[in-house]
Amino acid sequence: MALLVQKFGGTSVADADRIRAVAEQVARRRRQGDQIVLVVSAMGKETDDLLRIAAEVAGEPSGREMDMLVTAGERKAVALVAMAIEGFGVPAQSFTGSQAGFLTDGTHRNARILEVGAERIRAAIDSGSVPVVAGAQGVSAEKDVTFLGRGGSDTTAVALAEALGADACELYTDVSGVFTTDPRVVSTARRMHSITFDEMLEMAAAGCPKPAMRSVEFAHRHGVRLHVRSAFTWEPGTWVVEEGPDMEAALIRSVVADLSEAKVTVAGVPDRPGVAAQLFRDLATAEVNVDMIVQNVSAAGVTDISFTVPHTDLPTAVSVSEKRIAASGATAVLSDDSIAKVSVIGAGMKSNPGVAATMFEVLARNEINIEMISTSAIRISCVIAEEAADRAVTVLHEAFELDRTTF
Ligand code: ADP
Ligand code: ASP
Ligand code: MG
Repeated sequence: MALLVQKFGGTSVADADRIRAVAEQVARRRRQGDQIVLVVSAMGKETDDLLRIAAEVAGEPSGREMDMLVTAGERKAVALVAMAIEGFGVPAQSFTGSQAGFLTDGTHRNARILEVGAERIRAAIDSGSVPVVAGAQGVSAEKDVTFLGRGGSDTTAVALAEALGADACELYTDVSGVFTTDPRVVSTARRMHSITFDEMLEMAAAGCPKPAMRSVEFAHRHGVRLHVRSAFTWEPGTWVVEEGPDMEAALIRSVVADLSEAKVTVAGVPDRPGVAAQLFRDLATAEVNVDMIVQNVSAAGVTDISFTVPHTDLPTAVSVSEKRIAASGATAVLSDDSIAKVSVIGAGMKSNPGVAATMFEVLARNEINIEMISTSAIRISCVIAEEAADRAVTVLHEAFELDRTTF
């Protein structure tokens, strides 16, 4: 008899039929003898809808009210899922994040979990009930409702799996696992049987939405067994594992595109010590999340600095940079919000030269211009025009033969 934490994403519980399909599956697994704890996201696109309406009623809503609003999506979903499970003859009980024991810090919109006091969930399991926990939420020491951020339900599931000592954490979604690239963009993308935590973390940092970055970090740190799989076909999916024996064999394992960032260029910056330090200190103080940074070769005592930030941080990044150029003597701040970051990832590139050359050649052959480059030990990323993103992913996926490799 296994104890499993199963998390269902928005598409997996988007309507009554889907909720019944999930409930039926849970009831079946329960009857087979496994103990199940569910974590559920808001239905369909409800989180996006709530964020949109908040922006319509207030320019800059307070974090406290935003979290109260957004967590309502999950609260609705857990009650419906619990009712549906009971409809299949299995006792179930829904819980908000607070009721499930999720104590967080008070950083509204992006709270961090401090502690999971899972006694109530444990008691529900012991009484033979299926607990259904609202994802991505908790309560602060001040007793305010908090939201763990976008994709936070994955983190809820992993943290609960660790607190309960579950045998595995299953993340059910609308594709059947982690693929060599987004299967909605490239139809020849292949599902991986397993992927290492290191590669999964690089994929998440490069912009792969599944599983959410923080949940992968948490699972890695606490040794939680992670299984990403389909809530539609129920077939076995992808296990995220520690280093496997032949993991070094594959040169490239995946291609990831990230359309969530924008580029800022501060032009004509005086080429002397301290200028970059001041600019990036100002950006950090304004809580702008800077990703890639490139400083061009200096000519005649001036240089250009370009960096990328999430779209949501762009207005702040531009105004902070404009203030700074006035003080430092730079000439202009330019921004471009239609860029994409395309990355190739694989542990095998550590010991194989030539991956960067191949990536650049493939992009060049397809007349895709590279605007910025950055690398880690197992990743190479290029910033290109947003309209070329799907094409770049498709040609890179083919060039590195990911459509023909079994992992
Ligand atoms: P959920 O809402 O179930 O938590 P998300 O919508 O956040 O799931 O993420 C699932 C989506 O991630 C899939 O529909 C798929 O289009 C996209 N995706 C992008 N890259 C990949 C990849 N390499 N492997 C699997 N899915 C990916
Ligand atoms: N519903 C929230 C979101 O869309 C949390 C989650 O699904 O993980 O981001
Ligand atoms: Mg999601």
